Amino acid sequence: MSTSLFTTLFIAALGLYTGIQLWLASRHMKYVTSHRDRVPEAFTSKIKLDAHQKAADYTLAKTSLERIEIVLGAIILLAWTLGGGLEWLDSLWRSSQLSTLWLGTAYLLSLFALLSLIDIPMSIYRTFVLEEKFGFNRTTVKTFISDQFKQFLLLIIIGAPLIALVLWLMDNMGTYWWLWVWAVWTGFGLLMMWAYPAFIAPLFNKFNPLEEGSLKQCIQDLLTRCGFKSNGIFIVDGSRRSGHGNAYFTGLGQNKRIVFFDTLIESLSTDEIEAVLAHELGHFKRRHIIKRIISMAIFSLAGLALLGWLITQNWFYTGLGVNTASLHAALALFLIALPVFTFLLHPVSSWFSRKHEFEADAYAAEVSNADSLVHALVKLYEENANTLTPDPLYSAFHDSHPPAAVRIAHLAS
Ligand SMILES: [Zn+2]
Repeated sequence: MSTSLFTTLFIAALGLYTGIQLWLASRHMKYVTSHRDRVPEAFTSKIKLDAHQKAADYTLAKTSLERIEIVLGAIILLAWTLGGGLEWLDSLWRSSQLSTLWLGTAYLLSLFALLSLIDIPMSIYRTFVLEEKFGFNRTTVKTFISDQFKQFLLLIIIGAPLIALVLWLMDNMGTYWWLWVWAVWTGFGLLMMWAYPAFIAPLFNKFNPLEEGSLKQCIQDLLTRCGFKSNGIFIVDGSRRSGHGNAYFTGLGQNKRIVFFDTLIESLSTDEIEAVLAHELGHFKRRHIIKRIISMAIFSLAGLALLGWLITQNWFYTGLGVNTASLHAALALFLIALPVFTFLLHPVSSWFSRKHEFEADAYAAEVSNADSLVHALVKLYEENANTLTPDPLYSAFHDSHPPAAVRIAHLAS
């Protein structure tokens, strides 16, 4: 392939990527606006008009911000690639006297650090303007700064050795280096899943074991009924950062934990919490976690095999604005430009995710109570100001969870 042909393909893909996302976002905003005046039929007895309108306004504000981010993202990607950003960063590090391995590591670390730095103004706006306006923000400036600082330290401590190892393997393992990198990458992912709840998450939040009482008894009974073993039930102080509530599972093997946001515990009744937990258990019982891990492993293997080939093609570098081919530049280009070419897979992954949500709901209805889950979902939708009327196409493309009305209709049937 020639350099100019690949550049043209890249620009066309980026145009399509940006265009489709902007089009979906606009559809979504129109749809939500046109349904703002009336609570959907199925919810008239459950949700008041002002709550429905707050959800619409919140969705509109989030989606306008998303549109800005889509455009900025495209500009930033162009600046890094064809604009010569990566070439500039490379020449900066090449003038240092570092060995190839450490030069590559420093280049990639500084790229990731710069990418997150560029993201900070948006993140400030989202937290202190948008979330604040709708009453969800609980993050203080101090927490915000310390979060950024900790994330940066983690990038250095965990990122540096991992990047150096990957670059070393690429350099020393011959044609099939990508199989080695894949093994390391997959192993690292599993290690992180195992280590995250015990070592990383506590750097950002406090996790307290759920106190003895009727709620704990009810949860324990559910776990016994489902034959599920975990390494504890915890309450996380999510309210330190946000008013949004959630519940999740984390960890792997013996290190599995059940985590409830304090905000969720405050707003749901015992029966509703049990139903939400039963849904989460459903994800384990229906093997969704394992399926996710396996499909990610297959995708990363395909991706790395592709990179193994691209790395030997000159147009891959020159077509994306990099004049000097190197292992680290190939990795950087691959990581930042790949989403432009693979984004049409996104709706497929969303579809699978929604299928899993239905299965987990069905499991919850079996071992707990469908009505309690419906009540919990309605409360969570209302409290998180999630719209009940997303644009169907936007939702099909992006949403990992089915629209409220569809989900509740499934539970009711
Ligand atoms: Zn779920």
